[in-house]
Amino acid sequence: MKKGFNRFNKNSLNFNKGPKNLILGVVFFVLCLALLTQLTQYTQSIKTIAYSTFLKQIETDQVRMIKSIGTDVEGELKNGDKFAVIIPENNQQMWDLLKAHNVDFVVGKPAMQLGFWQILLFMLFMFLIVPLIFWYFRQAKGSGGTGGGGIFSMGKSKAKMFLPSQIKDNFNSVAGLVEAKEELRDVVDFLKNPAKYKRLGAKITRGVLLVGEPGNGKTLLARAVAGEANCPFFSISGSDFIEVFVGVGASRVRDLFSQARKVAPSIIFIDEIDAVGRHRGSGMGGGHDEREQTLNQLLTEMDGFDQFGEPVIVMAATNRPDVLDKALLRPGRFDRRVEVPYPDLKCRIEILAVHAKNVKMDKSLDLEKVARGTPGFSGADLANLINEAAIIASKAAKDLVDIHDIEEARDKVLLGKELKSIILTDEDKKLTAYHEAGHTLMRLLHPEETYALHKVTIIPRGKALGVTHSLPEREKYNQTREEILANIEVALGGRIAEELVFDEISTGAYTDFLAATDLAQRMVRFYGMSDLGEVVYSSGTYSEGTAEKIDNEVRSIIKRSYEKAKKALTENRDKLDKLANALLEKETMYASEIYELLGIEPRKDFKLT
Ligand code: ADP
Ligand code: ZN
Repeated sequence: MKKGFNRFNKNSLNFNKGPKNLILGVVFFVLCLALLTQLTQYTQSIKTIAYSTFLKQIETDQVRMIKSIGTDVEGELKNGDKFAVIIPENNQQMWDLLKAHNVDFVVGKPAMQLGFWQILLFMLFMFLIVPLIFWYFRQAKGSGGTGGGGIFSMGKSKAKMFLPSQIKDNFNSVAGLVEAKEELRDVVDFLKNPAKYKRLGAKITRGVLLVGEPGNGKTLLARAVAGEANCPFFSISGSDFIEVFVGVGASRVRDLFSQARKVAPSIIFIDEIDAVGRHRGSGMGGGHDEREQTLNQLLTEMDGFDQFGEPVIVMAATNRPDVLDKALLRPGRFDRRVEVPYPDLKCRIEILAVHAKNVKMDKSLDLEKVARGTPGFSGADLANLINEAAIIASKAAKDLVDIHDIEEARDKVLLGKELKSIILTDEDKKLTAYHEAGHTLMRLLHPEETYALHKVTIIPRGKALGVTHSLPEREKYNQTREEILANIEVALGGRIAEELVFDEISTGAYTDFLAATDLAQRMVRFYGMSDLGEVVYSSGTYSEGTAEKIDNEVRSIIKRSYEKAKKALTENRDKLDKLANALLEKETMYASEIYELLGIEPRKDFKLT
């Protein structure tokens, strides 16, 4: 792996924070404890008496000796009791009295006695604090100035700033992700040339949400945008904003944005935005006040982007867009969403090629074959694979990395993935291919009623396997009865295809059933599209008896659709097999490829959905 990648590796960025904060915490704790112990010891053993009492005690010969430092006096009575007293500045009378009554006295500084705690404190300072301070300053320098953290910079943003000269990545370092890069091109253009947009009064996106599972290149992509636009890049993780102290997060946000504005055009990248952006009121126990304040500050800052003021773009990454506060997604905030999916076959070959350039590799090694053997690997897994292979080859003192090293490395990476349970077996792939082919074919059999096909993939998105749902996210207005029924059939098509081919069926169709049931319920309850008539049944307004009728009606709609879809897929089994096999082979297919494969005329109104 090339140095450039290492330096920006997420793990290495995070590495310093955990242990450092921990050590600081421990030191702080011990210091407080030591101080407290000292204080309590001091106050417990010695009782302070009044000056007049003191004089009386001298006169009555009760005092054995005293020590005085300035006006502070400590002494011992003849009966062994210790006492302390504050004497006035002008105290000749007292000295005369002491002499007259033969009291021993010591004046000046008592010899310093090093107790256990003092020694401990001293050692702590030498061994912990001093190296920490060194460490802190070195780090701040190394990362371009704004870094550092801990208790020294509570309200300061913990973001790392990278100057254009430090950013080695551009779009060429990002393999695949063609659509994502395409979407980000005008962001780059805006950063390069803000005046152009200002002149025409064009509104431009200021917030981009990068959505995808870890390791698929969200950070890389954001950095590449900075590289392309040749502008400074601020990087921080959502969890870095949150500290135990309320208000710290908000002030960190403010600090970060003000820094970014100063050097605009610039990019702020917030990894794991869900740490701050989880929808409000969903507090996971204590400390969510702090999170809400931080989120509000973030919203305020983004709204405050003066329409044509400093060109600052905020890019945020998450794999849980569903939990984000809706306020974050409103126009003017994170209103553009860019998907960063697991790489498909073609993309995996390209990622392998990018990283293979950094090691000495056997020229005859077939990267396509490696890519075929690594479905479900993220970009980071693939980078890791190459790196591991290089390590294995080095250990064996080989001159070049060969296929055996790659295979050994693959097993190693797989093992790591298996622990995280996102591994895709051949059986999974086949099942998913048929499932997705089932949806797709149902769609092609109802060309007029369903949404235009864009692409189909068997590469998992999110935690569930193969969920490239053919169903659109947005609802079309004014759907006809036929359209809704067709969409129900499409939703059921996935499971039906599995049934036709395999003995066992998977649990992967759960969300499909949910979608189908939802559509059928709407037909019955809201659209008056069933035998129950043209009545709206909103929740809570109908009796138990009606509820049962609705349930029966929904069930019979689903059942009829199921039979229809099953018949259609059985009659088109040849096409189903053909499509499933092609999906297995290519992993991702665009509509045009599918039309060509099956010999279907493309739809006239073809558009991206
Ligand atoms: P994320 O931010 O989505 O968790 P990263 O951007 O941190 O993922 O990716 C981690 C590493 O994986 C990158 O630094 C890079 O080495 C590698 N990687 C991921 N996706 C790609 C890609 N499309 N092209 C090249 N390398 C990639
Ligand atoms: Zn499905």
